[in-house]
Amino acid sequence: MTTPQQHPALAAADPELAGLVGAEERLQADTLRLIPSENYVSAAVLEASGTVLQNKYSEGYPGRRYYEGQQNIDQVETLAVERAKALFGVDHANVQPYSGSPANLAVYLAFAQPGDTVMGMALPMGGHLTHGWGVSATGSWFRGVQYGVRRGAASEGGGRIDFDQVRDLALKERPKVIFCGGTALPRTIDFAAFGEIARESGAVLVADVAHIAGLIAGGAHPSPAGHVDVISTTTHKTLRGPRGAMLMSREEHAKALDKAVFPGLQGGPHNQTTAAIAVALREASQPSFRDYAHAVVANAKALAEALLARGFDLVSGGTDNHLILIDLTPKQVPGKIAAKALDRAGIVVNYNTVPYDPRKPFDPSGIRIGTPSLTSRGLTTDHMDQVAEWIDRAVTAAGKGDEETLRTVRAEVAGLMAAHPAPGLPV
Ligand SMILES: *Cc1c(COP(=O)(O)O)cnc(C)c1O
Repeated sequence: MTTPQQHPALAAADPELAGLVGAEERLQADTLRLIPSENYVSAAVLEASGTVLQNKYSEGYPGRRYYEGQQNIDQVETLAVERAKALFGVDHANVQPYSGSPANLAVYLAFAQPGDTVMGMALPMGGHLTHGWGVSATGSWFRGVQYGVRRGAASEGGGRIDFDQVRDLALKERPKVIFCGGTALPRTIDFAAFGEIARESGAVLVADVAHIAGLIAGGAHPSPAGHVDVISTTTHKTLRGPRGAMLMSREEHAKALDKAVFPGLQGGPHNQTTAAIAVALREASQPSFRDYAHAVVANAKALAEALLARGFDLVSGGTDNHLILIDLTPKQVPGKIAAKALDRAGIVVNYNTVPYDPRKPFDPSGIRIGTPSLTSRGLTTDHMDQVAEWIDRAVTAAGKGDEETLRTVRAEVAGLMAAHPAPGLPV
């Protein structure tokens, strides 16, 4: 066990909790983590997020706080803000939102009144809860209208955003706010097309790039800057920072966004997270991060090819980014059964609805995978055929209840992972 050396104070004060942290370190080290919204942060980001900055209250913004003693905190937050502005090419950045969902809620607070119409992609099509879906506050306090992706074969545009529908819906419903972006979109988002529709319909356009922020920062996905009013993003997915979020915009929306985050929605910012965001943004501005972002996409494309070669059905027929959505219907294994079997085989994925899924969201037809984490461990396109072979073997084994094969795959996976240590984890 590495815990006693890594976290001596914690191990002494609370061995039970320290044991759980150690077990999680082991789990993250030994498994092939394919959840596309997860990653491994660097040791530097981890250290920054575990500092005494967390002892400080800082309601307000740099230079205009409601508490004294901000000599250092103001500089920390300013560093994060300036780095975000430079990296994403925007006039304004707010780095205080606690996470992606509160960041999006702040956008509604800034630009809409309860009962107003808002528009986003439907959750089962790949949108996010906070884009006006019914079970979310954003769908009960506002009137959510939803667009989706095209039905039908990938070769005929199936699985891709239906811009005719987006435009018709926007002109008919005149939403105050339109969200683009999502959680299960394997294709490049056409921010310019959304921008035209938003201008035509008079809506505030928000690009929620939570999943792809790191790809944008690294030049592996087009930037929404210049096409949209607001950019909302988490910091902990492909951007490889701590759990947090940012809102970015042109100067014209700066005041409204800042007021919505504080005092509209939140109290004191999490300064230790702000510091870690600053570190992650510095890392993301280095040439090595450009290489990382492009490698994430190259790995996803190679993995998609290898899965197609094994008869897997991929929504939209493949990927342009870090994410692959697999419809397991032809394999005759439901998504949840496959996901749980893969987990036993040391391959961590999530079950997911596919567009027009005939099954229920809690027991859907698909699984969602992605390459941000494995790329952080240095796996390359040369490894992707092996990864596809493991997925294929485990899904086939899941269909037959073949636990022996799952155990064999788990051992093989652990072998490869041991040769590729993860950032931030004890070796
Ligand atoms: C992850 C995600 C969010 C929410 O982020 P949390 O930090 O989990 O609240 C919002 N929008 C999109 C598109 C996401 O992928």
